Amino acid sequence: MPDTLSYAQAVTFNRHIVLPRVDLAGQEALLNARVLVIGMGGLGCPAAQLLCSSGVGDLTLVDDDTVERSNLPRQILFSAGQTGQFKVHAARDRLHQLNPDCCINTINERLDDDALATLVKRHDIVLDCTDNSASRQQINRVCYSQGKPLVSGAAIRFEGQLLVIDPASHSPCYQCVSRLITEQPLSCVEAGIFAPVVATIGIQQAHIALLMLMGTSVLTPGELLTYDGQTLNWQRFSVPSDPFCDVCSNQ
Ligand SMILES: [Zn+2]
Repeated sequence: MPDTLSYAQAVTFNRHIVLPRVDLAGQEALLNARVLVIGMGGLGCPAAQLLCSSGVGDLTLVDDDTVERSNLPRQILFSAGQTGQFKVHAARDRLHQLNPDCCINTINERLDDDALATLVKRHDIVLDCTDNSASRQQINRVCYSQGKPLVSGAAIRFEGQLLVIDPASHSPCYQCVSRLITEQPLSCVEAGIFAPVVATIGIQQAHIALLMLMGTSVLTPGELLTYDGQTLNWQRFSVPSDPFCDVCSNQ
């Protein structure tokens, strides 16, 4: 039996519920949703904050890193007094204050394919908030094999990108798209990252995931959105599937 909103929760989420596009059914879908956020950096912090505060009932955070001072400008769940703590634990403490009804699970280790597949299976949707190509390819591969929708985000300097991958609609996957874009050889440590740009992308990842969980998404899976933080322009690109992709062509 899915959970229904308590009176107190209905009061908390009133401004959502009065939106015809959300309504009681949409808010209860969020209450019963399980969301996996991988990476608790500049993307994962704002994404997890909005998922939690918007009423998602079950959130799992994965990251093996600890909070450093240089994280604070953009990793907005952490405070200066939390340096040295595992990011997932520092984030959990802050998120619990935002929405005590949200069940927050934390994993402070890097997962191999089997462990990740087990975890993905238990969730309705996955947000890739990691900052490197190897993790993105692994998450894409595992989510596609498990048939789970994936909202992928990335940001560096003043540039951001978003992609929704949905195996149920046979969309192109991250590997199909990444062959067409230049993989960033530099990390944010070397190239820099403007805090509002990465936050914009993280917020959009949560926005898209919330809409998908309520069954009202407007984004076409496989469509690549890019954001230019110097001009504030968004662009959409329709990306074709690679017929020889070893992740999605045989599914
Ligand atoms: Zn593919």
